[in-house]
Amino acid sequence: MSTSNFQEIPKVFYSYQTQKAFCNCLVCNCYLLDDETYVIEKAYKKHPGYTAQDVIFDYAICLLVH
Ligand SMILES: [Zn+2]
Repeated sequence: MSTSNFQEIPKVFYSYQTQKAFCNCLVCNCYLLDDETYVIEKAYKKHPGYTAQDVIFDYAICLLVH
């Protein structure tokens, strides 16, 4: 048994709302973490002079609905 092909999802791709990896498609609500290919979109608002940035929106969509 090997866990070498297990891919940890970087925290930057976690949902800002739940602080967890996206597990459902925004459009069709299918389960994403089970070998599904999907894209994550994130929009940030940056504040000049500050390192903090707000997430305006973020979501995951499976490639089936694209
Ligand atoms: Zn979908």
